Amino acid sequence: MKTLKIGDVTVDRVQEWAGNLFDVASFWPGRSWDAIEGERGWLEPHFLLPTDKMKKGVLQASLHSFLIRTPKHNILVDTCVGNHKQRNSLPAWNMMNSDYLAKIAALGAKPEEIHYVMCTHLHFDHVGWNTKLENGRWVPTFPNARYIFAKTEYEHWLSDKDGHAMDGSFEDSVLPVVEAGRADLVKSDFAIDDTIWLEPTPGHTPGSVCINLSSGGGSAIFTGDAIHHPIQIAYPEWSTAFCSDAAGSEASRRKIINKICDTGTYLMAAHFMDPTIARVVRNKDRWKLKI
Ligand SMILES: [Zn+2]
Repeated sequence: MKTLKIGDVTVDRVQEWAGNLFDVASFWPGRSWDAIEGERGWLEPHFLLPTDKMKKGVLQASLHSFLIRTPKHNILVDTCVGNHKQRNSLPAWNMMNSDYLAKIAALGAKPEEIHYVMCTHLHFDHVGWNTKLENGRWVPTFPNARYIFAKTEYEHWLSDKDGHAMDGSFEDSVLPVVEAGRADLVKSDFAIDDTIWLEPTPGHTPGSVCINLSSGGGSAIFTGDAIHHPIQIAYPEWSTAFCSDAAGSEASRRKIINKICDTGTYLMAAHFMDPTIARVVRNKDRWKLKI
């Protein structure tokens, strides 16, 4: 992804991993591959590989953070899987050892220069780099950052630490941050300032939030896993097997689509493949992405 400029803010992507991820039959049980083929005209090549290059029945995904730099703050949105973390549910992401921090350094940011880490939700692929292993202990990777967690989301997983898509992450990537005194548990409409603020979009998880950015007349919305793949722009009713509330997830997706459709607002999702930056436009009685 190229650096995105919005007013006096820049947004860069820090990619940890990309590859075949969403097995459609298990990720969206009961949904048909034919519906995906029906949208091939705009999905290909970025979001759907040519038929002879794709793994049958599987969609590709990216695993990345966004680094937002405003005149006042450096903000990291979602922190991927992290290194040295045991994640038994997904072999490709178990005990990762990636150059994620080197990628942040290559963008000209040091860990101590991150002011805020914001997690759209607390599934294991959004909190991993919150901590790193140091002398056998998990410590905050970004020592001077305030870590912003929606209180609703935090309290849900506090009482369900081993719930779906957690895989030990609450203990090794969330609690150590709280115990180090670096976490702020906030309301789901918390604002850092008039450039960056949260918006509640529950459904994928009980306390999922989106992050809004506004600067110089331009805008973007960081949607976390309210939308996993662009096919859900055409079919917002496609909630995943990983959504805690399918109807709520659909409602949040529709809210986002209606809010930004045919506006200049950039949609920045947590798992969209390159070029990642997109806008939502009408497509007859449905919607599609415009790169
Ligand atoms: Zn995710």
